[in-house]
Amino acid sequence: SRSLKGYVAIVTGAGSADEGIGNGRASAILLAEAGCSVVCVDLSATYAEKTASMIEADRTGSQSAIALSANVTDELQCKSIVQSTVEKYGRLDILVNNVGIMGAKGTAETVDMAEWDVGMRVNVSSMVMMAKYAIPEMKKNDNAKGWRGAIVNMGSITGLMGGAPSLLYPTSKGAVMNLTRSMANHHAPDGIRVNCVCPGMLYTPMTYGFGMTEEMRKTRREQSLLKTEGTGWDCGAAVRFLACDEARWITGTTLTVDAGLTSS
Ligand code: NAD
Repeated sequence: SRSLKGYVAIVTGAGSADEGIGNGRASAILLAEAGCSVVCVDLSATYAEKTASMIEADRTGSQSAIALSANVTDELQCKSIVQSTVEKYGRLDILVNNVGIMGAKGTAETVDMAEWDVGMRVNVSSMVMMAKYAIPEMKKNDNAKGWRGAIVNMGSITGLMGGAPSLLYPTSKGAVMNLTRSMANHHAPDGIRVNCVCPGMLYTPMTYGFGMTEEMRKTRREQSLLKTEGTGWDCGAAVRFLACDEARWITGTTLTVDAGLTSS
């Protein structure tokens, strides 16, 4: 069923600036609505606490949420996120590797290599480090539903198309897709499913934060097949689907959520 009652999830980058609905916040709220207990991880304690309190304020079932302030580019902190989760809830079923930044600007000619390394660490290595500690916990779960653990990595359609002004962002998001496929291969024998969501340009704090203008929003809408703008909720719904029992036969895949932009 679509219920995630009794399951426990970690969502990284689960905060959002202001009252905004980013992909991580929306994923955390929708997982909780399905009955899951959620550990909301963010660099910003304030953002993470806001998400956890939004979930707690809306509690209808057994789910609950806690906020954790941590930096997922630090391996020790990744380890302690997983430890804290298991201490609090006793298990781990779902990992949403949502953290991602625009990162280093520029082309191969102009990029600052120190910024490049930071961007790759945030967008790619953090997902590996979180999985490194999450997988051993997932392996302890029983396989009655046909899977023991589900990992959802946040990609982007720029990883499919390459068309972005910077080199770092599309390169790192392309890597997220193949990271997903490789991990799906390695961990299928353990009953762990690994999938990727590739959103198009959504209206979230990340995009309006870097100055997405009304003109850019209009252009994006017009370029898509459905002529509409997406939000964090559209992305969160895809994450929740890939994490649920109904997706028990899905691994290694990329689910594009872009109103048809990449098909146009
Ligand atoms: P957002 O900026 O609103 O939220 C991301 C959160 O991650 C922030 O609260 C930030 O504090 C947190 N964070 C950043 N670095 C961190 C770190 N090292 N450790 C812990 N937390 C950290 O962003 P969003 O728009 O919701 O994007 C989330 C994901 O979706 C990213 O991977 C992004 O690349 C991807 N994405 C977004 C769009 C879009 O249009 N917004 C499109 C495609 C893909």
